[in-house]
Amino acid sequence: MMELHRRNRNQYRVRELRDLLNKYSYEYYVNDKPSVSDAIYDSLMDELKKIESSNPELITIDSPTQRVGNKLLDGFQKVRHQRRMVSLNDVFDKSEIEAWIKRTDKLMPGQRHEFFTDIKMDGLACALIYVNGVLAQAVTRGDSFVGEDVTNNVRTIKNVPLRLHEAPGFEQFLRGRTEIRGEIVMLKRDFEELNEKQKALGQPEFANPRNLAAGTIRQLDPALVAARPLHFRGYDILRDNDAEVPTNSFAYEALTALGITCNQQASIFTTLADVMNFVNEWGDKRHNLPFNTDGLVIKINDRALYESLGLVGKNPRGAVAYKYAAEQATTIVRDIVISIGRTGAATPVAVFDPVVVAGTTVQHASLHNADEIARLDVRRGDTVVIFKAGDIIPQVQSVLKELRPDNSQLIDYPAELKRQYPELEFVRPEGEAVYRVKGLTGPLILKRALAHFASKGALDIDTLGEKNVEALVDAGLVRDLADIYLLKKKQLLVLERFAEISAQKLIDAIASKKRPTLERFLFGLGIRHVGAQTAIDLANKFESIEKLMVATIDELREVDGVGEIVAESVVAWFADEDNMKLLQKFADLGVAPQFNKKSGRLVGQSFVITGTLQSMGRDAAADKIRELGGTFQTAVAKDTTYLVAGGKVGASKLKKAEQYGTKIIDEQEFLAIIAGK
Ligand code: NAD
Repeated sequence: MMELHRRNRNQYRVRELRDLLNKYSYEYYVNDKPSVSDAIYDSLMDELKKIESSNPELITIDSPTQRVGNKLLDGFQKVRHQRRMVSLNDVFDKSEIEAWIKRTDKLMPGQRHEFFTDIKMDGLACALIYVNGVLAQAVTRGDSFVGEDVTNNVRTIKNVPLRLHEAPGFEQFLRGRTEIRGEIVMLKRDFEELNEKQKALGQPEFANPRNLAAGTIRQLDPALVAARPLHFRGYDILRDNDAEVPTNSFAYEALTALGITCNQQASIFTTLADVMNFVNEWGDKRHNLPFNTDGLVIKINDRALYESLGLVGKNPRGAVAYKYAAEQATTIVRDIVISIGRTGAATPVAVFDPVVVAGTTVQHASLHNADEIARLDVRRGDTVVIFKAGDIIPQVQSVLKELRPDNSQLIDYPAELKRQYPELEFVRPEGEAVYRVKGLTGPLILKRALAHFASKGALDIDTLGEKNVEALVDAGLVRDLADIYLLKKKQLLVLERFAEISAQKLIDAIASKKRPTLERFLFGLGIRHVGAQTAIDLANKFESIEKLMVATIDELREVDGVGEIVAESVVAWFADEDNMKLLQKFADLGVAPQFNKKSGRLVGQSFVITGTLQSMGRDAAADKIRELGGTFQTAVAKDTTYLVAGGKVGASKLKKAEQYGTKIIDEQEFLAIIAGK
């Protein structure tokens, strides 16, 4: 049933993604007027590829993952390419490059080879055909099989030689057919100049150099083309006899000798580490190049090996395009959770599927207030664009309404507040955008939070009971939980409640709790739905605040007793900027929660129990496991060691156990493990 549901959902999503990507492609390739950024397009394409690769039955020939470019424009002669002009598979990080290397190594076992790496230019691909050294034809990539004849326009590009240069050692390229492939780009400074002119004429400015280059090369009037400076850089050379070009590095040598501009940065490497150095080196430096780039191209240098690897779909196996971290990515909003700050202000937080933006994984973003939710019109299940520039906090930038599920509902904010906090009442003060807890007189929330933080089950700070909490907060000595570590004796002595001894006692008691256990500290923070037991379980699983801070909903749910609501509440707590500042303040003051690694025979082993055991109840079994240092889990996860079967095991549990390499044992085996036999 679940399986069927998932398949239907994927099927629906694939259709929606395909339609939208096809629309974007049309706008980009045919109209040269993209309606979204490349980062958004790439992110949606990546999602489609991932769904298709785990559900190959959903691939259709019209899927954008299977096609290069788009429809050809009327008005140009169509030319069939002698060899297909393919596209490249995108990779976004080191692990994906590594996976690509592993895949190719498997296909050519034991073969030592080199990588050829170059800057990826952001322009449009074009093939120049020289016959006996003379430029005979220029053809766009088109749909990879058939392109458009743009010879007259390409002739206006100043650095395209109409006759190849004669160079010793490369004479053969001046005989017969030589096809040179490369990228037509508009240099950044030329683009800026053109836009200045547009502005001066009161004309609309052009969107970006790539689209202007593509639009220009497909103008029917060569005079107009000549007025917009374009630039060509070669990256490939093809001859009827492949053996004449043994490697990609040789191709660049030949191109340069023949008078074709090539990137001088292109290099040969033998290890992944060296490739990554090149990737890192160009991460920043690429911004100083005269043209736009969005990444690097990594190819297998030996052309015979490269060819032998063949194609998958529209992409060669022997090369990948590495894309630098984009500041935008798309993801799906799972929930909108409201968090209440210490001043009683309610802040909505969007919790979404983890996504990498500007190089880091994010899974939540503050939506600030009800007005912002309304402005974005963001709903649960929506596909959203997340934006993050550099180190700045991620934000929901916009909603891709085309991908909205049919059953989505507008967020009724006051109703949400009621649903998520049935015990509280909220008001929206005149002229304010945020809702606040009603009837809050003074810093009531802070008093409650501090009393909880100091309580027996949490940090257990001697003499910091309700009365003292009240006095400290009312006197303005404590404005947040961390402030107690800043208290000075002489500040206390001014207050009526304190004398020399009692003041010293409180200061000492607080100082002695600078290294609380992680579970007590977590419980003390007062994260909604995180009680003492959940705090213990979270501490055992994540072992530090830093790890818990970045845990995904799915990882949190692997913890016993943590369901959707608790997981979201934890994520929302860490999404609140005030809370993050508080944690930083604790750290700055030297408050360092300690995690004591468990001891016992079952440390590092996790158990899931399904069905009923004859010898003991579930809770007793869970206690026993914990007592021996093991972890008790409610569902089979990546790190589950044993699935204890009290009776028949359900199909989905079996499948998961198989997938994660979990051992399935019966009650007798379980008892033996516990007994240490
Ligand atoms: P690609 O990203 O698959 O890369 C392959 C191309 O890179 C080659 O065909 C070649 O032309 C080029 N290239 C540049 N420098 C090179 C070098 N040194 N060596 C070898 N090849 C080099 O290219 P694509 O198929 O045109 O990919 C689609 C691109 O278009 C994506 O970046 C996507 O974001 C963008 N796009 C955007 C939208 C939008 O709406 N914003 C729509 C469609 C496509």
